[in-house]
Amino acid sequence: MPEGDTIHRTAATLQRAIGGQVVTRFESMLPKLTRVDADAPLSGRTVERVESRGKHLLIWFSGDLVLRTHMRMNGSWHIYRPGERWQRPRRDMRIVIETATMHAVAFTVPVAEFLTSRELLDHDLVAELGPDPLSDTFRADDAIARMQSQGDTDIADVLLDQRVIAGIGNVFKSEVLFGARINPFAPVSQLTREQLQAIVDVATRFMRANVGAAASGSIATYGGMRRTTGRADPSARLWVYGRGGQPCRRCGTPISRQKQGPYARSTYWCARCQSVPKVQEVPRVP
Ligand SMILES: [Zn+2]
Repeated sequence: MPEGDTIHRTAATLQRAIGGQVVTRFESMLPKLTRVDADAPLSGRTVERVESRGKHLLIWFSGDLVLRTHMRMNGSWHIYRPGERWQRPRRDMRIVIETATMHAVAFTVPVAEFLTSRELLDHDLVAELGPDPLSDTFRADDAIARMQSQGDTDIADVLLDQRVIAGIGNVFKSEVLFGARINPFAPVSQLTREQLQAIVDVATRFMRANVGAAASGSIATYGGMRRTTGRADPSARLWVYGRGGQPCRRCGTPISRQKQGPYARSTYWCARCQSVPKVQEVPRVP
């Protein structure tokens, strides 16, 4: 399940593979894209740069054309040398961008569209993105202010809102709240600025730790080795996500799991390490 770290790594890998190169051939199974290619061919354009914004991947071509893709649950980008065998069947192919030395292939991407830079500026989903912890321009105070504007919404749901902070998905949601020792069901209005700061700090640390190593091999979109514990052992990579019923790595309490929020996404947490915040007691007048 690609989150911001995966897309960031994908962008870096694609940038290295096809950045600065001239497109020699373009192919797509998506009529929306082939229509644009028929009117204003991709062949002959230069791949100016590839970047991530939150969970959106943007490929900029010369002549003011941007390809936006979003992986959702199953989409992925692969890179291959010309003639190299693909690791997924051709029926899953949605987009192929070929240069003289590399082929970038998107499989089962559910969201793909061409935009001009002007259209990108006006694009609801991209323009409204909150600050991205993986961006050089990330400002924690901006993220905190956006969190504080969410009132009584559960903090776990606030973290999934891409307009508040960009790039966090369901895995990081649980991991970050464990790392900051915050109960996922706490309304954001009950959290102190220090607690919100801690959440943003942990989110930044966890996400940046997962972009250090660019993907090697042919699969650019590869999130399989995401880890937050700092441990390489595959069974010890995460603190709580996917560990319902197993002992907390800190205190041994069985990890809890519950569906949460409007989309019923699974939330994992330790009821002891992340106890429900105490309601502030009103001082009694003697
Ligand atoms: Zn615990």
